[in-house]
Amino acid sequence: MLPSNLPPFSFEVVAECAHTRARAGLLHTPHGTIETPVFMPVGTQATVKGLTQRALAQDLGVQILLANTYHLYLRPGHELIGRMGGLHRFMSWPNAILTDSGGFQVFSLRGLRKIDEQGVVFQSHLNGDQHRFTPESTVDVQLALASDILMVLDECPEYPVSHEYARQSMHRTVRWARRANEHFRRRTAESPPQSLGPGQSLRPGQSPTGTAHALFPIVQGGLFADLRRECANALLDLDTDGYAIGGLSVGEPRPLSLEAVEATEGILPRSKPRYAMGVGMPAELPEYVARGVDMMDCVLPSRNARNGCLFTSGGRVIIKHTRYKDDPRPLDEKCQCYTCASYSRAYLRHLFQSGEILYAVLATWHNVRRYLDIMREIRHAIVSGSFPEYLRYVRSAPVDVE
Ligand SMILES: [Zn+2]
Repeated sequence: MLPSNLPPFSFEVVAECAHTRARAGLLHTPHGTIETPVFMPVGTQATVKGLTQRALAQDLGVQILLANTYHLYLRPGHELIGRMGGLHRFMSWPNAILTDSGGFQVFSLRGLRKIDEQGVVFQSHLNGDQHRFTPESTVDVQLALASDILMVLDECPEYPVSHEYARQSMHRTVRWARRANEHFRRRTAESPPQSLGPGQSLRPGQSPTGTAHALFPIVQGGLFADLRRECANALLDLDTDGYAIGGLSVGEPRPLSLEAVEATEGILPRSKPRYAMGVGMPAELPEYVARGVDMMDCVLPSRNARNGCLFTSGGRVIIKHTRYKDDPRPLDEKCQCYTCASYSRAYLRHLFQSGEILYAVLATWHNVRRYLDIMREIRHAIVSGSFPEYLRYVRSAPVDVE
């Protein structure tokens, strides 16, 4: 049972780089304090594929996970998860959870969705059933999940789009953010249930745990700096606990994603965390941090691990290559993870070639650890005043193991 007097959200900046926009902070949530900048592993279906919650929390030290509202809404359903006491209890996860609004997945459905001012109607990719998401309903879904940090429903335009379409879409995203925020404030102001008794069920919008939640609006505007700035300025009025930057990783060239983040760095309040959604490759993590980003998430470490692409301190290792066939060395000699402490490249390659489940476990374990180590290096560099040197080192490092 969770205590009912947990503190609300707060963010402290503990160190700032004198030469870039990088900062180190502490994000306090009802499910623990998160050291920022932070990378959030993605648990799409309330699981990071291949890893147990114990491995994530105890062995890897993950302080916050991301879960996908779209997937959990469709299966097993947010109402069921609410009846099970919320996502933390359902998946037995002790630390913080951030949920997206489902917008990114819905807008990726292309022909299967239709957007209007009220929201978006879409067809389930599972069975073709029709569903509607509105700014209000996605708040309700995320409150039923009892996520710590909720996202507003936004439209995530494809790349490329015209300035005119991006402008109209951004304005709709701002209107939706206002509606979502009003609804969120109304719902969370209602006396929250501390726990559900036998036979009790959740009202729409009720959180099953009764703890505090935060809602982040999302800066959109395509890759147009003027629209990004206009959007960020409009969202400031909402006075939320943090701000997300969306519309990245939609197929655009990487320098454009970084410019889109740069466009709003001076507008988003310094005292609130900033979350760049869906980024990035290992070498890109410090680049976003240098532009004032505090939080990131990406499926890359887990998905690439399963596909045989492993990130090491010396660059990428493509484990199927013949040269690793009889390589007795650990994957990364500088890594302290369980995989690197216990197994050779030859064994990992054998598991991969054989299609063994253990390969996915060990590979994901290492890749997630590598991302967390990068974030620890970044944070240490910011706190110790050596972030510019760290950034130069990362920029000159090889992409692939030589
Ligand atoms: Zn390792």
